[in-house]
Amino acid sequence: MPAMLPVADPWFTVEAVEPGVYRITEPHCDRLVRANCFLVKGGERDLLVDSGMGIGRLRPALAALIDRPLILVTTHAHVDHRGGHGAFADAAILVHPAEADDLRRPGRTSGLGFDQFDPATRAELAAAGFDVDGLLVDAVPEPGYDVAAYRCPGIEPTRLIEEGDAVDLGSRRFAVLHLPGHSPGSIGLWDAADGTLLAGDAIYDGVLVDTIPGADIPAYVGTMRRLAGLPVRVVHGGHKPSFGRERMVAIAQDYLRTREK
Ligand SMILES: [Zn+2]
Ligand SMILES: [Zn+2]
Repeated sequence: MPAMLPVADPWFTVEAVEPGVYRITEPHCDRLVRANCFLVKGGERDLLVDSGMGIGRLRPALAALIDRPLILVTTHAHVDHRGGHGAFADAAILVHPAEADDLRRPGRTSGLGFDQFDPATRAELAAAGFDVDGLLVDAVPEPGYDVAAYRCPGIEPTRLIEEGDAVDLGSRRFAVLHLPGHSPGSIGLWDAADGTLLAGDAIYDGVLVDTIPGADIPAYVGTMRRLAGLPVRVVHGGHKPSFGRERMVAIAQDYLRTREK
């Protein structure tokens, strides 16, 4: 029997990272699945980028911040970025065509134990420093929450978006960048007018993941070359804190040094 986990209320941290942009994270998730979501306020529409694991209740946590029709963009269909989509049935749910079937299918995650991973994956995670005997959380969002009952539901997207499309909030507009490598349909949202990149897992200031199923190192090399030339002011990544252009170029160059042939 696992020990009783403490209740963490609030489950999410919500912090303003710049005017009209909020970073939401789940501090009680293991770092393997502790992703960032971002809420971006727009003149006519609000934008939510990813929805976390779907363990705590994200909708009420953001209720005071969302007051316009909502667009929910899925940077990619990994569980820690789309597990919470089910609470946003009223939103326009956008995803790249190469991730759409994964989004429609329930996520493979079943319960919140590391024991659900196959032995090879557990060995890889252990080698990377994860405590694979434990749980993916060190707390629960409410009394009586059953970690074994956790599932990630399949979600039907309302619109497919790809390279060259735009996500228009009225007062600001993001271009969709297809940034494959971490996953086939990973996308970023690029506001060229103010240099903001919402990058998902294409780039963040941490260990990048390019050996899991669906990852593609040559594609990732192409993505990093492209990012290195993008005139960003700030990058809000799918994990870890945000960073500026100099750091982005350094991360991209480090990647290219290790992976480029
Ligand atoms: Zn991912
Ligand atoms: Zn991620």
